[in-house]
Amino acid sequence: MELEKLKRLLNSLGEADLTVMKKDLETGDLARMIEERLRSQQERNINKVCPVCHGETTEDSLTLIFGPAGLKKRASFCATDCLEYFISNLKKQKQESYARRPEDEH
Ligand SMILES: [Zn+2]
Repeated sequence: MELEKLKRLLNSLGEADLTVMKKDLETGDLARMIEERLRSQQERNINKVCPVCHGETTEDSLTLIFGPAGLKKRASFCATDCLEYFISNLKKQKQESYARRPEDEH
């Protein structure tokens, strides 16, 4: 990022805002906010492409949130066919991992 942009942003802030920002910086809140913003932007980028057919998704694409708590993943599909295909694949993977589990323990 251009440092000029950051400088301009800081110049636009008043003393009160800067004081809050400095405090957030020290407590790590600012880092967390930036992290959240980055994550949501990356998520949006990922969801631009259908993971099944790699076609571009539109605004009325179907979005699936899946995975265990804390490890939630999100995927957007261009059509129900792709969503169905993805879910059946997910099902197959799960069945395979269950079938493999007894062997792993030995
Ligand atoms: Zn698709």
